[in-house]
Amino acid sequence: MNLIKKTKEKIVFSAETNESMANAIRRSVNEIPILAIDEIEFHKNDSALYDEILAHRLGLIPLKMEKSLTSIEKCPCKGKGCNKCTIQLKLAAKGACTVYSKSLKGGAEAVYDKMPVVLLTEGQELELVARARLGKGIEHVKFSPGIIYYRNKAKIEIDKDCDLCEDCVKACPAKILSKDKKITTKDDYICDLCDACVEACKKHGKECIKISPSGEILFFIESFGQIDAKEIFEEAIDSLNKNLEQLNKELK
Ligand SMILES: [Zn+2]
Repeated sequence: MNLIKKTKEKIVFSAETNESMANAIRRSVNEIPILAIDEIEFHKNDSALYDEILAHRLGLIPLKMEKSLTSIEKCPCKGKGCNKCTIQLKLAAKGACTVYSKSLKGGAEAVYDKMPVVLLTEGQELELVARARLGKGIEHVKFSPGIIYYRNKAKIEIDKDCDLCEDCVKACPAKILSKDKKITTKDDYICDLCDACVEACKKHGKECIKISPSGEILFFIESFGQIDAKEIFEEAIDSLNKNLEQLNKELK
Protein backbone atom coordinates (compact mmCIF):
# COMPACT_ATOMS: atom_id res chain seq x y z
CA MET A 1 0.00 0.00 0.00
CA ASN A 2 1.15 3.48 -0.88
CA LEU A 3 -0.35 6.56 0.74
CA ILE A 4 -0.87 9.43 -1.71
CA LYS A 5 -3.05 11.91 0.14
CA LYS A 6 -4.48 12.05 3.63
CA THR A 7 -6.77 14.48 5.42
CA LYS A 8 -9.55 13.87 7.94
CA GLU A 9 -12.13 13.88 5.16
CA LYS A 10 -10.24 12.19 2.37
CA ILE A 11 -7.65 9.48 1.87
CA VAL A 12 -6.15 8.39 -1.43
CA PHE A 13 -3.83 5.41 -1.63
CA SER A 14 -2.75 2.80 -4.11
CA ALA A 15 -2.58 -0.88 -3.33
CA GLU A 16 -1.56 -4.06 -5.07
CA THR A 17 -4.83 -5.89 -5.05
CA ASN A 18 -7.62 -6.86 -7.41
CA GLU A 19 -11.05 -5.43 -8.25
CA SER A 20 -13.08 -8.02 -6.35
CA MET A 21 -11.24 -7.29 -3.11
CA ALA A 22 -11.56 -3.54 -3.70
CA ASN A 23 -15.28 -3.92 -4.38
CA ALA A 24 -15.83 -6.03 -1.25
CA ILE A 25 -14.24 -3.27 0.85
CA ARG A 26 -16.27 -0.60 -0.95
CA ARG A 27 -19.54 -2.41 -0.28
CA SER A 28 -18.66 -2.94 3.38
CA VAL A 29 -18.85 0.82 4.00
CA ASN A 30 -22.60 0.34 4.15
CA GLU A 31 -22.20 -2.12 7.04
CA ILE A 32 -20.73 0.42 9.47
CA PRO A 33 -23.17 1.57 12.18
CA ILE A 34 -23.82 5.31 11.77
CA LEU A 35 -26.00 7.77 13.65
CA ALA A 36 -28.90 9.49 11.86
CA ILE A 37 -32.34 10.86 12.63
CA ASP A 38 -34.93 8.14 12.12
CA GLU A 39 -38.15 9.40 13.71
CA ILE A 40 -39.62 12.87 13.99
CA GLU A 41 -42.62 14.16 15.87
CA PHE A 42 -43.84 17.44 14.43
CA HIS A 43 -45.54 19.78 16.87
CA LYS A 44 -45.69 22.78 14.58
CA ASN A 45 -44.86 23.12 10.92
CA ASP A 46 -46.07 26.29 9.22
CA SER A 47 -43.38 26.12 6.55
CA ALA A 48 -44.09 25.61 2.87
CA LEU A 49 -42.68 22.08 3.05
CA TYR A 50 -44.62 18.96 4.06
CA ASP A 51 -43.59 17.13 7.24
CA GLU A 52 -42.34 14.21 5.12
CA ILE A 53 -39.98 16.38 3.09
CA LEU A 54 -38.56 18.02 6.21
CA ALA A 55 -38.18 14.63 7.89
CA HIS A 56 -36.28 13.36 4.88
CA ARG A 57 -33.97 16.40 4.88
CA LEU A 58 -33.29 16.11 8.59
CA GLY A 59 -32.55 12.41 8.25
CA LEU A 60 -29.80 13.17 5.76
CA ILE A 61 -27.96 15.64 8.02
CA PRO A 62 -24.71 14.00 9.18
CA LEU A 63 -24.52 13.87 12.98
CA LYS A 64 -21.39 13.65 15.11
CA MET A 65 -21.05 10.08 16.30
CA GLU A 66 -21.84 9.18 19.89
CA LYS A 67 -19.47 6.28 20.61
CA SER A 68 -21.29 4.94 23.67
CA LEU A 69 -24.54 4.29 21.83
CA THR A 70 -25.70 0.67 21.38
CA SER A 71 -27.47 -0.38 18.21
CA ILE A 72 -31.22 -0.65 18.60
CA GLU A 73 -31.38 -4.38 17.68
CA LYS A 74 -28.90 -5.33 20.40
CA CYS A 75 -30.41 -3.04 23.06
CA PRO A 76 -32.23 -4.60 26.05
CA CYS A 77 -35.24 -2.38 25.22
CA LYS A 78 -35.87 -4.65 22.21
CA GLY A 79 -36.27 -1.95 19.61
CA LYS A 80 -38.61 0.31 21.56
CA GLY A 81 -35.95 2.99 21.83
CA CYS A 82 -34.41 4.02 25.16
CA ASN A 83 -31.60 6.38 26.13
CA LYS A 84 -28.98 3.66 25.53
CA CYS A 85 -29.88 3.30 21.87
CA THR A 86 -31.54 6.55 20.83
CA ILE A 87 -30.64 10.22 21.05
CA GLN A 88 -33.25 12.91 21.28
CA LEU A 89 -32.92 16.19 19.42
CA LYS A 90 -35.13 19.24 19.42
CA LEU A 91 -35.64 21.96 16.91
CA ALA A 92 -37.63 25.12 17.48
CA ALA A 93 -37.53 28.15 15.19
CA LYS A 94 -39.67 31.14 14.36
CA GLY A 95 -39.57 33.13 11.10
CA ALA A 96 -38.54 35.09 9.31
CA CYS A 97 -35.35 33.05 9.03
CA THR A 98 -33.58 30.18 7.35
CA VAL A 99 -33.44 27.15 9.62
CA TYR A 100 -29.99 25.57 9.55
CA SER A 101 -28.71 22.21 10.80
CA LYS A 102 -27.11 23.92 13.82
CA SER A 103 -30.61 24.57 15.23
CA LEU A 104 -30.83 20.87 16.12
CA LYS A 105 -30.19 20.78 19.85
CA GLY A 106 -29.86 17.80 22.16
CA GLY A 107 -27.77 14.66 22.56
CA ALA A 108 -25.94 15.00 19.25
CA GLU A 109 -24.66 17.79 17.07
CA ALA A 110 -24.73 18.27 13.32
CA VAL A 111 -21.32 17.86 11.70
CA TYR A 112 -21.86 20.96 9.54
CA ASP A 113 -23.60 24.01 11.02
CA LYS A 114 -24.74 25.67 7.85
CA MET A 115 -26.86 23.04 6.11
CA PRO A 116 -30.15 24.74 5.19
CA VAL A 117 -33.28 22.85 6.28
CA VAL A 118 -36.17 25.18 5.43
CA LEU A 119 -37.03 28.83 4.92
CA LEU A 120 -39.57 30.36 7.31
CA THR A 121 -41.36 33.61 6.51
CA GLU A 122 -42.55 36.17 9.09
CA GLY A 123 -44.49 34.49 11.89
CA GLN A 124 -44.11 30.90 10.61
CA GLU A 125 -43.05 28.39 13.24
CA LEU A 126 -41.33 25.05 13.25
CA GLU A 127 -41.20 22.81 16.30
CA LEU A 128 -40.22 19.19 16.38
CA VAL A 129 -38.65 16.40 18.40
CA ALA A 130 -36.38 14.00 16.54
CA ARG A 131 -34.92 10.66 17.54
CA ALA A 132 -31.62 9.52 16.11
CA ARG A 133 -30.31 5.96 16.23
CA LEU A 134 -27.55 3.83 14.79
CA GLY A 135 -28.22 2.14 11.48
CA LYS A 136 -26.41 0.80 8.47
CA GLY A 137 -26.19 2.05 4.91
CA ILE A 138 -27.67 -1.19 3.57
CA GLU A 139 -30.88 -0.17 5.32
CA HIS A 140 -30.93 3.50 4.26
CA VAL A 141 -28.29 5.72 2.69
CA LYS A 142 -28.60 8.29 5.51
CA PHE A 143 -26.63 5.81 7.66
CA SER A 144 -23.61 5.99 5.34
CA PRO A 145 -20.37 7.43 6.75
CA GLY A 146 -19.01 8.27 3.31
CA ILE A 147 -17.97 6.60 0.12
CA ILE A 148 -15.12 4.49 -1.15
CA TYR A 149 -14.44 4.28 -4.86
CA TYR A 150 -11.56 2.83 -6.78
CA ARG A 151 -10.05 2.52 -10.20
CA ASN A 152 -7.00 1.23 -11.94
CA LYS A 153 -3.85 3.24 -11.53
CA ALA A 154 -2.36 4.30 -14.85
CA LYS A 155 1.16 3.58 -15.93
CA ILE A 156 2.41 6.43 -18.13
CA GLU A 157 5.39 5.69 -20.33
CA ILE A 158 7.03 8.27 -22.56
CA ASP A 159 9.22 7.16 -25.41
CA LYS A 160 12.70 8.53 -26.16
CA ASP A 161 11.41 9.34 -29.64
CA CYS A 162 9.48 12.38 -28.24
CA ASP A 163 10.31 15.70 -29.96
CA LEU A 164 8.83 17.84 -27.14
CA CYS A 165 6.02 19.33 -29.27
CA GLU A 166 3.96 19.73 -26.07
CA ASP A 167 0.70 18.73 -27.79
CA CYS A 168 0.15 16.10 -25.10
CA VAL A 169 0.77 18.64 -22.31
CA LYS A 170 -1.96 20.88 -23.75
CA ALA A 171 -4.32 17.96 -24.38
CA CYS A 172 -4.26 16.48 -20.87
CA PRO A 173 -7.45 17.58 -19.06
CA ALA A 174 -5.95 16.63 -15.68
CA LYS A 175 -2.83 18.77 -16.35
CA ILE A 176 -0.43 16.16 -15.07
CA LEU A 177 2.07 16.43 -17.92
CA SER A 178 4.67 19.15 -18.12
CA LYS A 179 7.72 19.91 -20.22
CA ASP A 180 11.11 20.04 -18.70
CA LYS A 181 14.13 18.62 -20.54
CA LYS A 182 11.69 15.88 -21.40
CA ILE A 183 7.95 15.34 -20.81
CA THR A 184 7.43 14.56 -17.14
CA THR A 185 4.40 13.53 -15.10
CA LYS A 186 3.26 14.84 -11.77
CA ASP A 187 0.50 13.38 -9.56
CA ASP A 188 -0.06 10.64 -12.11
CA TYR A 189 -2.68 9.07 -9.81
CA ILE A 190 -5.08 11.73 -11.17
CA CYS A 191 -4.81 10.21 -14.66
CA ASP A 192 -8.08 8.47 -15.49
CA LEU A 193 -6.80 6.82 -18.67
CA CYS A 194 -8.72 9.17 -20.98
CA ASP A 195 -6.05 8.80 -23.68
CA ALA A 196 -6.29 12.48 -24.76
CA CYS A 197 -2.48 12.74 -24.71
CA VAL A 198 -2.10 9.57 -26.78
CA GLU A 199 -4.47 10.95 -29.43
CA ALA A 200 -2.73 14.35 -29.49
CA CYS A 201 0.57 12.55 -30.04
CA LYS A 202 -0.94 10.50 -32.89
CA LYS A 203 -2.23 13.67 -34.57
CA HIS A 204 1.30 14.99 -34.41
CA GLY A 205 2.31 11.87 -36.31
CA LYS A 206 3.99 10.06 -33.45
CA GLU A 207 3.26 7.39 -30.89
CA CYS A 208 5.48 8.27 -27.97
CA ILE A 209 3.05 7.99 -25.07
CA LYS A 210 1.78 4.72 -23.79
CA ILE A 211 -0.84 4.52 -21.07
CA SER A 212 -1.77 1.21 -19.55
CA PRO A 213 -3.19 -0.13 -16.27
CA SER A 214 -0.34 -0.55 -13.78
CA GLY A 215 -1.92 -3.48 -11.95
CA GLU A 216 -2.37 -1.35 -8.88
CA ILE A 217 -5.74 -0.17 -7.60
CA LEU A 218 -6.29 3.40 -6.46
CA PHE A 219 -8.59 3.79 -3.48
CA PHE A 220 -10.42 7.02 -2.73
CA ILE A 221 -12.14 7.29 0.65
CA GLU A 222 -14.33 10.30 1.34
CA SER A 223 -16.07 10.97 4.65
CA PHE A 224 -19.41 12.73 5.13
CA GLY A 225 -18.12 13.84 8.54
CA GLN A 226 -19.57 11.42 11.10
CA ILE A 227 -16.28 9.51 11.35
CA ASP A 228 -12.84 10.15 9.79
CA ALA A 229 -11.89 8.69 6.44
CA LYS A 230 -9.30 6.46 8.14
CA GLU A 231 -11.95 5.01 10.44
CA ILE A 232 -14.24 4.36 7.47
CA PHE A 233 -11.56 2.19 5.91
CA GLU A 234 -10.70 0.35 9.12
CA GLU A 235 -14.31 -0.27 10.07
CA ALA A 236 -15.24 -1.36 6.56
CA ILE A 237 -12.53 -4.02 6.76
CA ASP A 238 -13.70 -4.98 10.25
CA SER A 239 -17.26 -5.52 9.09
CA LEU A 240 -16.07 -7.42 6.03
CA ASN A 241 -14.11 -9.74 8.34
CA LYS A 242 -17.10 -10.18 10.63
CA ASN A 243 -19.32 -11.06 7.69
CA LEU A 244 -16.78 -13.60 6.45
CA GLU A 245 -16.54 -15.15 9.92
CA GLN A 246 -20.30 -15.41 9.98
CA LEU A 247 -20.24 -17.07 6.56
CA ASN A 248 -17.67 -19.58 7.81
CA LYS A 249 -19.85 -20.42 10.82
CA GLU A 250 -22.92 -20.90 8.65
CA LEU A 251 -20.99 -23.15 6.28
CA LYS A 252 -19.82 -25.38 9.16
ZN1 LIG B 1 -32.81 0.80 23.75
